[in-house]
Amino acid sequence: MELLNRLNQQLQALDDKQLIRKRRTVNSPCGARVSVDGRELLAFCSNDYLGLANHRKIKLALQEGAAIYGVGSGASHLISGHVRAHAMLEERLAQFVGAHLESPRAISFCTGYMANLAVITGLTAGDKEAEIFSEELNHASLIDGVRLSRVKAHVYPHANLQALEVLLKASKAATKVVVTDSVFSMDGNLAPLPQLLALCEQYNAWLVVDDAHGFGTLGDNGHGALEHFNLRSPYLVYMGTLGKAAGVGGAFVAAHETVIETLIQKARPYIFTTATPPALAHALLTSLDLLEGDEGVTRRAQLQSLVAQLDDGLRLQRWQRLPSKTAIQPILIGDNAETMRAGAALYEQGLWVGAIRPPTVAAGTARLRVTLSAAHNSMDVAKLIGALNALERDMK
Ligand SMILES: *Cc1c(COP(=O)(O)O)cnc(C)c1O
Repeated sequence: MELLNRLNQQLQALDDKQLIRKRRTVNSPCGARVSVDGRELLAFCSNDYLGLANHRKIKLALQEGAAIYGVGSGASHLISGHVRAHAMLEERLAQFVGAHLESPRAISFCTGYMANLAVITGLTAGDKEAEIFSEELNHASLIDGVRLSRVKAHVYPHANLQALEVLLKASKAATKVVVTDSVFSMDGNLAPLPQLLALCEQYNAWLVVDDAHGFGTLGDNGHGALEHFNLRSPYLVYMGTLGKAAGVGGAFVAAHETVIETLIQKARPYIFTTATPPALAHALLTSLDLLEGDEGVTRRAQLQSLVAQLDDGLRLQRWQRLPSKTAIQPILIGDNAETMRAGAALYEQGLWVGAIRPPTVAAGTARLRVTLSAAHNSMDVAKLIGALNALERDMK
C-alpha cells in the first residue's frame, strides 16, 4: 500500500538520523526504583519531584473519591460533568496561589497541554489584532497554543529582556500576551519573572507563566514560582500542572476572575472535552494538603540537598552540567549518538536517565536529562555521580 510505504520511508529517515524513540513499559508504581523487563532500575527521569505519585494517603483519597463520585464525569464541564470535587479543587487551587494574584479564581483542566492551548487561545479569542510574545525555549504545548490562536506571534530569544522590550514597544496591539515557562523543562533554569512582569506592567501585556516544574517544588510553601519570586499582579496568568510534583494528573489556570470567566466561555480545549474523573480532583485535595504541610517542607528540603550533592560530586570535563538549582539537572553532551550511547551505558548499569535529542532540544545540544526526586536518597545520587564521572572518562 503506497500510503504505508510513505510512512515507512519517513520512519526510516528518522531511524537513519538516530531519532527513533522507544517506549519502555514499566511494571511498578512511579518511584525512585522501578521495574522494567524484570529488572529493577534506579530511575532519574520522572517528573515526580516530591515522590508523591505513589503516596499512601493520595492513593487512599483516590479510592475514597471513586467510592463517592464513581469513575467517569460523564460530560464536559459546561454540560453536566462539573462535579462538586472539581469545584472544591478549583477553590482550593485559587487559595493555593491566590496571594500572588488579584481577585483570584482557578479553573481545572485534564492536562497541562490542554491548559496551555486554552489559556493562549482564550486570551486572544476576542481580538484578531492581538499579538503574542513567546520565549524561545517554551514548552511544545505553549508553542502549539500560539499556533492555534492564529494571531501574530513573535519569538524572543531566551531570557532576553532587551529584545522583548523592543518588540513590546513596537507593538500597536491592544491585546498583548507574553508567554514563558518559569522553569525551562530541558535546562532547569528559571525565567527572569520579576523583570518580565515589570515589562508586562509597563507595556500593558498579560504575563502567562507556565509553572509545570515549579508548582509544588518552588517557594517555602510549595506555591511555586510566584511565591519563589514574591510576585503579585493582576497581569499574571498562572498555569500549574498537577501530574508532576503534585503526583496525580491534570492542570489548572489561576488568574483574575475575569480571565477565568473568559476561559470558561471561550476556551475550546476547555469546552469541548469530557471533564476528568472527579475522583482525581478529590485525590488532588489530599495532594495539595501534603504539598502545603510539613511533609511538603521536608520533601522540598530533601530534593534541594540532593541537587547540592549532585552539584558537588560531578567532575565533568567534556560534558557540561547546566547551571540549574531545580530538580531538572541536564548534562549537555552535544552529539546525538554519544548521548544515546551514554544513556544506554547508564541503563546497562541499572540507571535510567532520559537521553534528549532534537527536535526536543536544539540541534547539537543533545543531553542527558537527570531529574531528581525527594523519593531518592543520597546513596542513589552517589551511585549516579560515580557512574557519570566514570562514563565520561571511559567514552573519550
Ligand atoms: C509537562 C509540561 C506541560 C504539560 O503538562 P501535562 O499535564 O503533562 O500535559 C506543559 N508545560 C511544561 C513546561 C511542561 O513541562
